[in-house]
Amino acid sequence: MLKAYAFEGIYFDQAAADKCMNALHGCGFAQGTDRLTTQTIRAQREFYRRVRQVFLDNGKGPALIGHNSNMMVPANYTHLDVLYNGEQFSERLPNDDYIDAIDEDMLHVQWSSKLLGIPVVFLSEIFSRESRESHWSDEDLYFKHLRTDHALKATRKLMALLLPNDMLFGGDRIHLDLGKRIWDIWDTLGDATYYSHR
Ligand SMILES: [Zn+2]
Repeated sequence: MLKAYAFEGIYFDQAAADKCMNALHGCGFAQGTDRLTTQTIRAQREFYRRVRQVFLDNGKGPALIGHNSNMMVPANYTHLDVLYNGEQFSERLPNDDYIDAIDEDMLHVQWSSKLLGIPVVFLSEIFSRESRESHWSDEDLYFKHLRTDHALKATRKLMALLLPNDMLFGGDRIHLDLGKRIWDIWDTLGDATYYSHR
């Protein structure tokens, strides 16, 4: 497939490890008469490592992108190139205030790029509730909201958490002009190398 098609990577949606109780591959454990599940973290790590090797063997990238917001086992994602995160706040972001919503210690132990060893792109959920309810289909209104003072303040709070922790942000649901200014800085810096502990 890699030889037949010109693509350089794979996006894995919901890239977390699965639960499994199949004793034939060492998963799960017995508790009384029940058999309970364990998570397939090592198997998932090995899967991503092997996918990476297949790309390398075929002279490709790779660009392996994972997205997961609710099953944060950092070791799971070591062999990806980047992890998209942040959607867990789609229902838990009162007043679009990330400083209130995220304790910085929590950020360090769950989501930071340094912890995962790969860059984390945090997907903003500013305006997510409103956009789901009414503005999703009205692009003009949606973009107008993303240029308000409210959006600017909310985006600044998010940046205050992300940028000092080497975390990037996605292009959606941020104050558009502030986001562009930061992207312009990144463009000025040119190609950067991310030094992970992978
Ligand atoms: Zn299994």
